[in-house]
Amino acid sequence: MRCLVISDIHGNLEALERVLEAAGAVDRTLVLGDLVGYGADPNAVVERVQRLPHLITIRGNHDKVAVGLSPAEGFNQLARQAIEWTAAQLTPASRAWLTALPCGPLCVDLGGSDLVEICHGAPFDEDFYVFDELDAQRAMAAQRRPLCLFGHTHVPTVFAMNGHLMALGPARTDRFTIGLESGTRYLVNCGAVGQPRDADPRAAYGILDVEARTIEIRRITYAVAAAQAKILAAGLPKVLAQRLAVGR
Ligand code: ZN
Repeated sequence: MRCLVISDIHGNLEALERVLEAAGAVDRTLVLGDLVGYGADPNAVVERVQRLPHLITIRGNHDKVAVGLSPAEGFNQLARQAIEWTAAQLTPASRAWLTALPCGPLCVDLGGSDLVEICHGAPFDEDFYVFDELDAQRAMAAQRRPLCLFGHTHVPTVFAMNGHLMALGPARTDRFTIGLESGTRYLVNCGAVGQPRDADPRAAYGILDVEARTIEIRRITYAVAAAQAKILAAGLPKVLAQRLAVGR
């Protein structure tokens, strides 16, 4: 079973379309939240994700704030401006669908396999950021499956735990593959589709092969200029367009 893993699309339709095209045929698509916020195409992204066959998805913090499920208090000025714009753009149908998204963590059944759990931030708190080894240790203490996939930081990250914790990369390559050894637990962030923040502007996504027990983190260029033009035309803060070009 081949699964596409995507997170943090953030209203960037150009990046999403490119990733879906590059991923090819998959048996499941796992979406780890933050479909909206920052980018200029919140409704189009929601509609595109809704149409994906065999979709499994959870909500992210921007999805929650956009539909009024939680306040924008923790957001910086830029994120707040963008989410207010997004909230005003959402159609009743998009809003209703986002409101109904389940909260992570979620154990997912992939063809009878009990390999995978998904969350937006961390298994113990959907809004928690896992950046360093201390964060990873807390997250892995709460994870219930051998492989926990997360998003939220927009930084591709791989931790493995087998007696001790190891940070495994990823290296800055087009494709970074991790073989999932039995007896080892993994905490993996495949990066952000629509707003990478690891100084690499390419869209990031993951391909999980359940039977082969591999997960591959991939990068792909997309039409950044088109996404930027839409952000500027929408009257969103200029820096939201600029950051797409530098991956920050
Ligand atoms: Zn995000």
